[in-house]
Amino acid sequence: MAQAIYINGNYFTREDAKISVYDHGLLYGDGVFEGMRIYAGKVFALEDHLVRLYESARAIALTIPIDIDAMRAATVDTVAKNGLTEAYVRLVVTRGGNQLGLNPFACEDPQVIIIVDTISLYPEKYYTEGLDLVTASTIRNHPAALSPRVKSLNYLNNIMAKIEAIRAGCVEAVMLNHKGEVAECTGDNIFIIRRGRLVTPPIHAGILEGITRNTVIELARKAGMEVVEETMTRHDLFIAEECFLTGSAAEVIPAVKLDGRLIADGKVGPITQKLNELFKEHVRNQ
Ligand code: PMP
Repeated sequence: MAQAIYINGNYFTREDAKISVYDHGLLYGDGVFEGMRIYAGKVFALEDHLVRLYESARAIALTIPIDIDAMRAATVDTVAKNGLTEAYVRLVVTRGGNQLGLNPFACEDPQVIIIVDTISLYPEKYYTEGLDLVTASTIRNHPAALSPRVKSLNYLNNIMAKIEAIRAGCVEAVMLNHKGEVAECTGDNIFIIRRGRLVTPPIHAGILEGITRNTVIELARKAGMEVVEETMTRHDLFIAEECFLTGSAAEVIPAVKLDGRLIADGKVGPITQKLNELFKEHVRNQ
């Protein structure tokens, strides 16, 4: 459990770590965040996550009160204070605010929060047996409404799809974009194997540019695989040879079923297994 939670340069116990009920992060989901993993005591891809955090903030015109160097130092310090060597770090920057109106520019006290804790996104059995997915009828946010590239505190779009998944007896949902193309899952990016190539939707399909996604693409290319970022529909998922999801919390997790149909023979595929091994090795040798 989190021992020391960072808020604006100070550390609090879990019980005492509190921010205002007037904070626009709470009132409007106005803020940004990052989720990262700690392997062997070190934050994986910290730099990439910091860059994405500041880009997300910039996209919503939120000025983070400390610079990226101070955020890096605060993150490393919070990780050290908590003493967890296999864990997860959540960086949160809220808009702040002390009144009910929507105006973000009236908020002068953004809150920087760092939590180190354990996380398990999916039950362990799915890592060996593979996930059963359902296509959500909730489409991913239109990029012109709220770009999925912004990792904002407003996750209701994903939560609506997650509700559908759980109601259908699954733990994860595939989200399509406004054109009916495959975008991503509620908290992960999606990949398939098709004719031996690794295929994943492009950023312009309206997805979060996942750091695990980029890592897996790099590892696959290094291993000599052809990787393409290509528009996909459900058709591609139905005829896929293999399918898996990626995310900082999820890591690499196979998917073997979609909408009640088996993907290939319904077993975890060899390329997924291989990429998972490469990923595990990579994060430990960083
Ligand atoms: N898509 C969504 C919607 C996410 O929330 C996440 C992160 N949990 C991802 C993809 C994966 O991104 P990353 O690999 O950077 O964690």
